[in-house]
Amino acid sequence: MNEERDRFLTEAMGWCWHDFDPDKHVNTYSLEAYVCNKCKGFILGNNDFSVVEDFSRLLDRVKNQEHLQEFLASFNERDFADIEKGLSSREDFANQLYLFLKTRPV
Ligand SMILES: [Zn+2]
Repeated sequence: MNEERDRFLTEAMGWCWHDFDPDKHVNTYSLEAYVCNKCKGFILGNNDFSVVEDFSRLLDRVKNQEHLQEFLASFNERDFADIEKGLSSREDFANQLYLFLKTRPV
């Protein structure tokens, strides 16, 4: 997990990069959850865009942004779900999106 990248992308997509104390979890049903100091929500942790679930939320968000369509078009979406190439494709996408957004003039 690349925390600096994931934090940047989380905030760039308008989500909360949760601030929580990993030693203070609350049990909700069978899940260990935390309370975020910033958004006050019950959370399970921060985004890790190498993980499929977090990645698909990122991809959905990118698809809905007009200015990212050209960036998105340079990737083959099928690679993200590929058994062999999936993880490295998702990492590559997240890394490049990070660089793209970081160097893009606002
Ligand atoms: Zn939060």
